[in-house]
Amino acid sequence: MSSVKKKKDFHITIDEELCKGCSICVSICPTKTLSISKDPNKKGYYSAIQHSPEDCIGCNKCALMCPEVSIRVFMGVPLNEGIS
Ligand code: SF4
Ligand code: SF4
Repeated sequence: MSSVKKKKDFHITIDEELCKGCSICVSICPTKTLSISKDPNKKGYYSAIQHSPEDCIGCNKCALMCPEVSIRVFMGVPLNEGIS
């Protein structure tokens, strides 16, 4: 967990069943917060995962570039909101 307090909280969701593991999002993420899963999804693709969500700066590049439209970026909602 980063000790740097961000001005806003960002997080993304990845629909792992839509993802085809092309790695475009992994390559384009400026904070290198994405990687490829070691386990295949139901279709046999190794999907993208976010391994360090605290480093996401909400730039939206991953969502814009994903050819499968499987990433959504959220802003202003605490990462652990709703989790007790
Ligand atoms: S929104 Fe930007 S920083 Fe966050 S995971 Fe996507 S590309 Fe990386
Ligand atoms: S760009 Fe989209 S399809 Fe490609 S690895 Fe990332 S989430 Fe999966």
